[in-house]
Amino acid sequence: MNDNNHFDVIIIGGSYAGLSAAMALGRSLRKVLIIDGGRPCNRQTPHSHNFITQDGEKPAVIAEKARTQVLQYRTVSFLNDFAISGNATDEGFAITTRTSQTYSAKKLVFATGIKDLLPDNEGFADCWGISVIHCPYCHGYEVKGEITGILDHGDTAMHLASLVNNLTDDLTIFTNGQSDFTAEQTAQLTANQIKVENRLIERLEHQNGQLERIHFTDGPPVAIKALYARVPFVQHSDIPESLGCQLTEQGFIEVNAMQQTSVPGVFACGDNTTPMRSVASAVAGGNFAGAVVNKELCSEQF
Ligand SMILES: Cc1cc2nc3c(=O)[nH]c(=O)nc-3n(C[C@H](O)[C@H](O)[C@H](O)COP(=O)(O)OP(=O)(O)OC[C@H]3O[C@@H](n4cnc5c(N)ncnc54)[C@H](O)[C@@H]3O)c2cc1C
Repeated sequence: MNDNNHFDVIIIGGSYAGLSAAMALGRSLRKVLIIDGGRPCNRQTPHSHNFITQDGEKPAVIAEKARTQVLQYRTVSFLNDFAISGNATDEGFAITTRTSQTYSAKKLVFATGIKDLLPDNEGFADCWGISVIHCPYCHGYEVKGEITGILDHGDTAMHLASLVNNLTDDLTIFTNGQSDFTAEQTAQLTANQIKVENRLIERLEHQNGQLERIHFTDGPPVAIKALYARVPFVQHSDIPESLGCQLTEQGFIEVNAMQQTSVPGVFACGDNTTPMRSVASAVAGGNFAGAVVNKELCSEQF
């Protein structure tokens, strides 16, 4: 492998977490390669909220600003490609991409995010990030006071209901066929005037992603403006697992307080490590991971 393909650090994933790690490393004179597949999870959202200085900005604009700033550091390179495999070597790690290039580095940072597994009900994917929303802090203010739903059931629906109840007086939990609230939970929902609809959802009617009605497999549809939904996910990249990184029970990459995974020399940050899903958290995790990686490299050289 020629020297051009060898780096101090390879960062896989060049969105908010990865770019943030790269900034700390670039400012520490580290030779860094960012490999990015260009599929951030919020790409369909028109406006990103709750990240100070960028509130209401388009997600791609925030990423572009970050990329421009990070690439001012001459030791940082950005590659549009997808990492498909990785292995440990005597000097660190080697990563191979979809275009059959192999790069090596002393340390790896996975900032690969997660892949949301959207239900295949007609209209769901079209509304995702527009009027079907994952988080009240990111998009709740914009739909305050509207006819709102939560697509969930059980304890997690209760948790979300307690938050969303603060934002609207017209709230319904759509359990999509599940019926697992305890008597105590049902009483709590009733006391807060929160309705429960157990019918099976067939499709979401919308105009350009703006929800209008939920249709069920039987009975009349229900008018709706916003729907909070918790969807299952998988890791966007399976390389951390293939290298031996432990995952948590929930499916996140296990990291300690220093963003270190269970494999020495391999770090992770952003959505792939935490359910606290926001641009601000991803930037914070990446920033810290970058600093810890640099500290480790400094200690090894000192
Ligand atoms: C619909 C939606 C709306 C949201 N709205 C907001 C909001 O308004 N405000 C807010 O603060 N947060 C919002 N979030 C959360 C926020 O988008 C995430 O927390 C944030 O994007 C996480 O950043 P990340 O860098 O960890 O991952 P991502 O932004 O998802 O980026 C991961 C990157 O890694 C790349 N990648 C993955 N695997 C590989 C590989 N093997 N090789 C190369 N590249 C790879 C991907 O292509 C992608 O570019 C939203 C999330 C969703 C799903």
